[in-house]
Formats: sequence, structure tokens, C-alpha cells
Amino acid sequence: MRHASVLLEGADLIDGSAGPVIRDATVLIEGERIKYAGPRKRFADERIERLDLSGKTLIPGLIEAHTHAAFDADMLAYVKNGITTIRFAGLDQNDVARLRQRVEHGELIGPRILSCGPMIDQPPPAYPEWSVAVSTPAEAAATAERLIARDNVEYLIVTQRVTVPVMAAVVRAAHAHGRTVVAQTWAVDGKEAAELGIDELHNSSRVYVSRDYPKKRLLNYESIADRLAMSGRAWATIDWDATRSIMAAMVDKGVPYCGMQVMGHFQQGIGVTELETDADFLTLFGKPERDAFFGFIKKLQGSWTPDDLEHWRVANENRMEWMRRFRALGGDLLVGTDMQFGGITLHQELRNIAALGVSPMEVIAMATSGNARALRINGKLGRIAEGLLADIVVLNRDPTNDLGALRDIACVFRDGAMAWSDPSRSWPARA
Ligand SMILES: [Zn+2]
Repeated sequence: MRHASVLLEGADLIDGSAGPVIRDATVLIEGERIKYAGPRKRFADERIERLDLSGKTLIPGLIEAHTHAAFDADMLAYVKNGITTIRFAGLDQNDVARLRQRVEHGELIGPRILSCGPMIDQPPPAYPEWSVAVSTPAEAAATAERLIARDNVEYLIVTQRVTVPVMAAVVRAAHAHGRTVVAQTWAVDGKEAAELGIDELHNSSRVYVSRDYPKKRLLNYESIADRLAMSGRAWATIDWDATRSIMAAMVDKGVPYCGMQVMGHFQQGIGVTELETDADFLTLFGKPERDAFFGFIKKLQGSWTPDDLEHWRVANENRMEWMRRFRALGGDLLVGTDMQFGGITLHQELRNIAALGVSPMEVIAMATSGNARALRINGKLGRIAEGLLADIVVLNRDPTNDLGALRDIACVFRDGAMAWSDPSRSWPARA
């Protein structure tokens, strides 16, 4: 359904900036863009379609900063849950391109897809099927150039074993093309990465100093399960005093952290039952998606002992405390999942962020304008404001005191067109 102009009238407007709610607002969508957003205003043109949204609340489309969820069902789950932009953080770019084409051609309902392409790692890469291995800075620079110029990736990602010279080469090549680089890095710590110009640090990155697990010991892993078990032990034995200078360097250089605590919780078994009983999980996803996910979790923690799990429990507490302290220093947190079923689990992550003491309005701002800023798409997405693309989620109730309302959705606009609407209601009600 696409009209030249659609007028949304009477809803409360949360514009994504964490400013005050605008009651009884008007939003005019013209083509794919927002032509007006603000207090009620009259537009007297008979060609405008009007939707009476009294009692509803509008928020910008949510943005997922880090996913690998690429099943067709994931695409629908994202849109149906108000997430209109996702970024893949390490996948084969041919798979991404095919998926994007199917969504853009209307074969599949799905969000706008951005991609970091495959993970750039040094041998042996942790995830061979999703990685490209490079050994020297020259190779790294050539790979970065190829990914940007030939494969059209929007961002680059460097992972575990990448060293300072290789990371610096990737950052230089990316910045020369106006692209940014995400890191999930073990060999390089957060301070070194921030100082050489990295743009974002994600999940298992060494943004902390461990008393028991110095760099050399951490790089000695033999499998993914082994590495993650070690990561739990390292986080559990954090040295807060030594960690402070890493946080300070990240704040100083404006490097945000995407912690994705939801994945850490899943490794500890938290959130699994909630996912398995979720209505979208039960109706949208079938056996292939579930088997792939639970097989993956098994691979992650196959060899873990009860002791490893206990370390992860402490690690998760420390990770939450890290994020609290980072925010208190002025650091920015990003919202992502690093998980399958992101349409569902992103909302679990929003609750994790709220548990840091962040208000619902700020949580919404982080998942919209905050993520948009880090992804350098804030000129066109992340807020409901004049001139931006019309990615708008229409909520049935007010989320300012209840983040659960973010999944109580009447309909979702993407690029000015209604991408999904609740089939169980006679919706939209035309004024
Ligand atoms: Zn990831």
C-alpha cells in the first residue's frame, strides 16, 4: 500500500530524541519521507489519505546494530516487532546481497539491510564460514578496498586475532572511503583500538582488564566454546582500576560499546524459556531455524562445566556494571543482539538496558537516534522528523512506563509504505 501522501493524526509522538512526548500530533508522510512531524496541524488537500491514530503512540523504526539472523522468518519477525533497519555483523556478503534483493523486490517482508560483510580476522579465524583471513597490513588494506569497492559493504568488521597494524590498515582504508569499522577484538584492547581510530567496539571485545587472564592467556583458546568460557572467567575477574583507562579512552575518542547482554544471558540459560514460549517464536519459526540456533548455542558452550557457568553468572553481573560505569563516564551504548530471532530478542535487550537504570524514553532513543548516529545514518533515519525517511511504528499503547508496549504494534511503516499491519484488527481505521 503506497499513497502519495498519508496523514497520521491524533497519536502521541515520541520522535526518538528523548525529548518530551508531543501529544495529539500530526505526521505527514509524502512518498518515502516525512514532510511534517509535530503538534496538530491542518493539511487541507483531498488527495491526502488520513489515518485517525487517537490513543496510539508513534516511535521511529528501531535499529538493530549487530545481527547474524538471516532466515526469511527473521526478516518478518524484525518488521512485525518494529525493527525497520538491521545491520549484519559478519556474514558472507553474497548471502546478504541475495537476501537484500528479495526484500527490496517485495518477495519477502523485511527490514532495510545494512552489512559489515565478512569478519576480517587473522589466521586461524574463529568463524571460517563468515570470515576472510588476512595476515599482513597490506593484505588487510587490499581486502578492505575490495569489500568496499566491489562488494558494496557499508561497514567493515575486524575480529578476535586482528593485531594493531592490521586493524590500523583496515581503519585507514575504511575511513578513506567514509566508512566505519566495527571491532570485536581480543588481540587489541579497547584503549589501543580507540587510539588507532576504531569506530565501535562490540560484545566480547577486550574493553576490560582481567586480573587472571592477561592478553597472552586469552589468545590461547582452542575452540569457540573454549574462548567463550575463558571470556566468562576473564570478565569474572575484572580489574576495575585498570579497566578505567580503557573506558576513558573510549569515551575520549567517542567509541560506543555494543554489549549485547542478551547473548551473555542466553549463554547462562537466562531468557531461553521466555523465547521458547513467545508467540512469534512459536508461529513464525520452524524446525530449521530452531535447530540451527540451539545447535549453535551447543557449539558455543558444549564443553562448559558448572564452574564455567558460575563464572558466566559473575561475568554477566560485571558486564552490566561495566556498562553502568561506562555510561556514567559519558560513554554511548548501542543496541544489538548478536542472536538469531532478533525481532524478539532485541526487545529482551532493551529490557537489559533499562535494567542499567536507563529510562524507557532513553532506551527508545538509544535504539533509534543513538544507533542511527553510530551507524552514520542519522541524516535519514532514527527520528520522526521532517526530511527523514518515514520509518514509523504505530504502538497500541504508551511505552513510556512499560517497554512491553514496544511489541504491542498496530502497524509499521518503512520508507513511507505500510510494511506490516496487525491482521487481527480492522486496521488501519480510516478517518
Ligand atoms: Zn556477532
